[in-house]
Amino acid sequence: ERLVTSSADDVERAAEAALRPKKLDEFVGQRVVRDQLSLVLQAALARDASPDHVLLSGPPGLGKTTLAMIIAAELGTSLRVTSGPAIQHAGDLAAVLSSLEEGEVLFIDEIHRLARPAEELLYVAMEDFRVDVVVGKGAGASAIPLALPPFTVVGATTRSGLLPAPLRDRFGFTGHLDFYDAAELERVITRSAGLMGVDIQHAAAHEIAGRSRGTPRIANRLLRRVRDWAQVRGDGRLDLKAARAALEVYEVDPIGLDRLDRAVLAAVCRRFGGGPVGLSTLAMTVGEEPDTVETVAEPYLVREGLLGRTPRGRVATQAAWEHLGLEPPPGAWG
Ligand code: ATP
Repeated sequence: ERLVTSSADDVERAAEAALRPKKLDEFVGQRVVRDQLSLVLQAALARDASPDHVLLSGPPGLGKTTLAMIIAAELGTSLRVTSGPAIQHAGDLAAVLSSLEEGEVLFIDEIHRLARPAEELLYVAMEDFRVDVVVGKGAGASAIPLALPPFTVVGATTRSGLLPAPLRDRFGFTGHLDFYDAAELERVITRSAGLMGVDIQHAAAHEIAGRSRGTPRIANRLLRRVRDWAQVRGDGRLDLKAARAALEVYEVDPIGLDRLDRAVLAAVCRRFGGGPVGLSTLAMTVGEEPDTVETVAEPYLVREGLLGRTPRGRVATQAAWEHLGLEPPPGAWG
């Protein structure tokens, strides 16, 4: 598994639990969303009512699950957790909804992956606080309406564009999480180090932040690897030397590119003179599947302005040549 992937498996999620901020004012960055959410929650508390349903969108690892937990904690209620892929049938969702207690928060991760019938059941539950429980089969089936107590859905999605409009419209508040800047990631790292019971030098936090691709999850993961290095090969101190040496071992470069990212860029520059080169040719050159190159390496390279996608294929930008320390061919940019 890549060290700079923005997704996490169950083992990592367990390690992350200890680092999650528990209150809104411990949550680093995302000032606009935090401020808006704070108003929504305070108003609901003042009215002693459940707040509007909340939709959180944004790439993995930026804090959607954390915010859902914070919402429940700030409201002084409990959080129930499910996800789009975990709900196979509408009946599964009906069971979850009908077991909710008044004021609870239901977190639905990857809500864009809910199957259609479950999605339709959810609209009604969110709008009218009702589920229609179907009894019987075929022509003799009938729906018995079951009233639900007020509750709040917090939906999380990496792809808000995939959410059907009727579902999107049921959310009274939508917060979009953006990538974090280096100063914010430094604060995440320093805070996490504190929770792990280790001191980190400012220069080391700065170095890790710069390689974390704007993502707190990656920042925390790199921090754990630097701590390992400091314990095993260093003198236990989390300083700049430890940060650089550890991240060299893991081949994460100063802007957060790993070996595959650099192989893709180097292939475009060295083998194809900067491109354009087609995806499948490029993938073959680096010994990967086209899908891996497209979904794993390219998004960050494009986001960082190192790679361009054109109708004729992938092209390296000036920044890519500079990053690799290579001289572009004469006349490359007119
Ligand atoms: P996914 O979509 O993969 O479920 P996510 O957006 O829900 O990801 P989280 O699980 O909430 O991401 O966050 C990943 C890790 O990053 C957690 O350990 C969390 O504590 C930390 N983290 C995320 N955002 C922040 C933040 N703003 N301040 C401090 N730590 C954060």
